[in-house]
Amino acid sequence: MFEDIPVDVSPMYEGERIRSANMFVELAGPKSMGAELVQVEEDVEDGKIEVIGPELDAMQEGDIHPFGILIEIQGEHLEKELEGVIERRTHELCNYVKGFMHLNQRDAIWCRVSKEALAAGFKLEHLAKTLSILFKEEFPLIESIAVTILTEPAKVEEFVSNAKEQYQTRDARARELSDEDVDVFYGCVMCQSFAPTHVCVVTPDRTALCGAINWFDCRAAAKMDPDGPIFEIDKGDVLDTVKGEYSNVNTTVTERSQGTVEKVYLHSVFEYPHTSCGCFEAVAFYIPELDGIGIVDRDFRGETPLGIPFSAMAGQCSGGKQVEGFTGLSLEYMRSPKFLQADGGYERIVWLPKEIKDSLEDYIPEDIRDKIPTEEDGSNLKEIRSFLEEKGHPILQRIKITPAEEEIVT
Ligand code: SF4
Ligand code: ZN
Repeated sequence: MFEDIPVDVSPMYEGERIRSANMFVELAGPKSMGAELVQVEEDVEDGKIEVIGPELDAMQEGDIHPFGILIEIQGEHLEKELEGVIERRTHELCNYVKGFMHLNQRDAIWCRVSKEALAAGFKLEHLAKTLSILFKEEFPLIESIAVTILTEPAKVEEFVSNAKEQYQTRDARARELSDEDVDVFYGCVMCQSFAPTHVCVVTPDRTALCGAINWFDCRAAAKMDPDGPIFEIDKGDVLDTVKGEYSNVNTTVTERSQGTVEKVYLHSVFEYPHTSCGCFEAVAFYIPELDGIGIVDRDFRGETPLGIPFSAMAGQCSGGKQVEGFTGLSLEYMRSPKFLQADGGYERIVWLPKEIKDSLEDYIPEDIRDKIPTEEDGSNLKEIRSFLEEKGHPILQRIKITPAEEEIVT
């Protein structure tokens, strides 16, 4: 089936990492731009493959290129709601290709091609061909598929902005529902291939931590393939509305994590936080000295107030572990009124990167917005603390304030 593809294609290459020494080119990623998008359409020319912009053999070693993957699919029983879930598989399926590495999702993708793959004659058109075969195999509902790879900067730019609009539409839809409005949540174990005890619990308020799958997406996926990696969880009894604890969520997570995780609080970083695989868009972390919570996202390059960058923190709390004081989350979850509600929501947030803060302007309650510092206001605990004091952040009522400090506050 893959006879025209000059490199091996198999799930065994999924964990392959391409380090810079072995890299021919980098596609999309933090130093460039890119996106992936699956679109269900009425009329798709089956098997159509197109590369718009320079192919690999026209690139120079060490180059970093903009990169887009557009996958158009058609099928009598394919619903628009399946786009998000099918799109999320791009990550896994791209990684089947030996010599091609794919990280993250949506417009955060970051890919690399190895020198060996190039030497073997691998081209982006082969990636497109492989994806068209694999997607049809994985999703029998797909009757026709066309894959377009974009590397032309202006075209990628246009594509990324269109893709962002599509993500936005998907996300906005889920924002209208709350956890109370539904009887079932969904579980996803797609990431168990590398985080064997990780189970995502997706609720209307808590979009999956990869940011790519919401409650509606899961509903469509579970309906299409009830025995697949996304499945229904009947909520069962509400054990704690504020923390977000449900009897059947606990039972299902226990079962699906092979007994490793027995309890999950959906809306808290304390005691039994939601586990984290590795693809979270951001991490919420407890800062004991301030009794507050900081947030750092994948794109933030500097150090967090804990003195470590995102990558080091991600290493400590990923892999499906339940680590008290840490939880991986999607940026969309930060738009939910239930965002870490058991911990105090935004009133408990004492640091977050400026870019995230700006993007959430409409969701952070107005009376607290100016009181939350970003890296521009401080990156170590001392600077942050004096900012909190200067602005009268409500966290001050939680931390013990000495009389001298009190004077500064008032
Ligand atoms: Fe599924 Fe969670 Fe992995 Fe997203 S992060 S693919 S929801 S297991
Ligand atoms: Zn994951």
